[in-house]
Amino acid sequence: MMKFFKKAAVVTLSVAMVTTLFAGCSSKKKDDKTWVIGTNAEFAPFEYVSKKDAVINDYAGIDIEIIKKIAEDNGKKIKINNMEFDSLIVALKNKQVDGVIAGMTVTDERKEEVDFSEPYYVAKQVMIVKEDNTDIKTAKDMEKKTIAVIQGFTGEVAVKELGYKYEAFKKGTEAIQELKNGKCDVVVIDSATANQYVKDNKGLKIVEDDEAFASEEYAIAVQKGDKKTLEKINASIKKFKEDGTIDTISAKYASSSDSDSDTEEK
Ligand code: GLN
Repeated sequence: MMKFFKKAAVVTLSVAMVTTLFAGCSSKKKDDKTWVIGTNAEFAPFEYVSKKDAVINDYAGIDIEIIKKIAEDNGKKIKINNMEFDSLIVALKNKQVDGVIAGMTVTDERKEEVDFSEPYYVAKQVMIVKEDNTDIKTAKDMEKKTIAVIQGFTGEVAVKELGYKYEAFKKGTEAIQELKNGKCDVVVIDSATANQYVKDNKGLKIVEDDEAFASEEYAIAVQKGDKKTLEKINASIKKFKEDGTIDTISAKYASSSDSDSDTEEK
């Protein structure tokens, strides 16, 4: 009697294992052709939603073009998963996405949680103030001012390190609105995105302080230990840096105006 039960249990278990194995295989096969890429499409000119400029679905921007090229180079398709910036590293850790491209700066803290590719872009933090502002000429001038940053961005880290009080907003557009309404004096954010905001909103200007803000490098993040994906991405980045592809893409967005506005569409 005992023997029968044992045998039955083994058979049931084997069937279960084989089923799981097949299920695992088929889902893996699908994943092999597609990279699910996390981004936060509220960071023009790197990633934003626009029917007019669309590169992958309705997503456009430097990062979207770069990841498309890298995917093509490796025979992959891309599925963009748009989420909050704060959720990107969590999504990588939970294996919901294979990679993240989001103007993400390489930092030691982030390196503990994910692996980064070779950098593809150099940026820095700058200050956006109203055009008629004469008080803020250096980062130190922000000390007694009302500062806005975006939650979880390296701009928040930079202001925190300077030791100044600030208010953190969920979105760049919210911080910019606050500045335009005179509710804050300065917004600290990445340089290229700041340029975009100044281009798209009248009455704002950029103040730089290269001594206060160190340069930052953007890279693609992958799951910790995912050497296979990282090597592929790195080989493509190297190639596209050398052959000028990345420069061409960046230059294209630096000169285009109103990249964020679909309102002009007819
Ligand atoms: N470079 C900044 C960071 O890594 C902002 C990135 C972003 O908003 N997409 O925090």
